[in-house]
Amino acid sequence: MTDCLFCKIAKKEIPSEIVFQDDLVTVFKDINPAAPVHLLIIPNKHIPSVNEIAPGDEELIGKLFSAARGAAELSGIKDSGYRLIVNNGPDAHQEISHIHLHLLGGGKMKHPMG
Ligand code: AMP
Ligand code: ZN
Repeated sequence: MTDCLFCKIAKKEIPSEIVFQDDLVTVFKDINPAAPVHLLIIPNKHIPSVNEIAPGDEELIGKLFSAARGAAELSGIKDSGYRLIVNNGPDAHQEISHIHLHLLGGGKMKHPMG
């Protein structure tokens, strides 16, 4: 998809602070961090939201979680704990229509879910 911010970040067409990338996933710092560690984990392939995950994407979605674990380890928060969030659709305030995991950690979570 040519007009998607996160596709452009994955292709390095616009700058971002990438902390990990391979042929399937990209992990980069959220520009407006909500916690001491706030990373975004995306597939390099454009999938708009959870609603558009196809059966053939299941392995790729698993890779997002493996990348999240790796990023938590790299960030030194694997054992202290972290929260993974996927906002989906308007009620959840999904702003960017390219599926992403938020990885939040580095401090005790203050906000309850919901
Ligand atoms: P969501 O509301 O789940 O769609 O989250 C989108 C996230 O993308 C927000 O936390 C934004 O701060 C973040 N974001 C938006 N633009 C950029 C950017 N250029 N680089 C890094 N993160 C961004
Ligand atoms: Zn995209």
